Amino acid sequence: MRSGPGTMEYRQLGRTGLKVSRLCFGSLTLSPLQAGLPVPEAARVMRRAFDCGVNFVDTAELYQNYDQIRSAIEGHGDGVLIATKSYAHRRDQMEKSLVLALRALKRDHIDVFLLHEQESALTLRGHREALEYLAKAREKGLVRAVGISTHHVAGVEAATADPNVEVIHPVINRSGIGIRDGDTGAMLRAIRAAAQNGKGLYGMKVLGGGHLLEDAEAALKFAIGIRDLDSVAVGMQTTLEVEYNVRLFSGQVVPDGLRRIVGRRPRRLLVEHWCLACGECVRRCSAGALYIMDDGRAAARQELCDLCGYCASVCPEFAIKVI
Ligand code: SF4
Ligand code: SF4
Repeated sequence: MRSGPGTMEYRQLGRTGLKVSRLCFGSLTLSPLQAGLPVPEAARVMRRAFDCGVNFVDTAELYQNYDQIRSAIEGHGDGVLIATKSYAHRRDQMEKSLVLALRALKRDHIDVFLLHEQESALTLRGHREALEYLAKAREKGLVRAVGISTHHVAGVEAATADPNVEVIHPVINRSGIGIRDGDTGAMLRAIRAAAQNGKGLYGMKVLGGGHLLEDAEAALKFAIGIRDLDSVAVGMQTTLEVEYNVRLFSGQVVPDGLRRIVGRRPRRLLVEHWCLACGECVRRCSAGALYIMDDGRAAARQELCDLCGYCASVCPEFAIKVI
């Protein structure tokens, strides 16, 4: 039931037939890679968003938080749409990813399944088998829409040209943070061309992974103003952040009290003293932000790190995390 502070806007996600709320719940921030909220607490935050009209959740196999989402959607039937992602490039790998998602989320279908972090036409070609598997899964009703996520302008352009791709999840923010091969203007032009070609688009990293938190309202309003985006994923960790975002996305004034309480805490990458300098995180970081210091610990070049938290997924010592 709706009990939120504003009126949420809903949009068709391209030509998929899926109707999504303009605010998408980005669940990476709740996941073990970032805040690592206990399942009941994560579910409580997500349910508050559902009560406020949010009907779209973004996750990924990498985030290891299907249990949080399963708990949150219990009792909501198919009313909440879920997008997830996998790095699979072969058919058998993608089948494994789809089965895992269906079982872990206790669903008979996944609404949107994306190839995770595509860079260009070349990487898309390398994932051809996985993409074809998803297209077949869509015919069988196991997946409703197929797409890619990308940090690259070239990724958006490649997906626009590919008839098997219906949904694109690109990095976009007012400062261009995390766009690996261009700036905000180039990404906006690629997004415009994709929308004109009927692709469904929902943006990510609109707060620059946390770097734009100092003026979060301006960063969020910039993303809301991109009409080519059918939805915008925003990470939230508390029910007050949910209410703050719902108000902004519903065109309502955010009361000063709520703005102060939410008081967005800057985020940072933490490397614990027990880091063994194995270098796994350095190899995983596609932004090239990590290196091993002379004192034998991993460290980040802050100007390159977009606080995605993906390095945390490969650390055998649980020594690196976005907090
Ligand atoms: S993966 Fe973990 S242990 Fe290895 S260098 Fe990175 S932080 Fe250190
Ligand atoms: S250092 Fe970690 S959090 Fe920063 S961009 Fe690389 S993978 Fe992401």
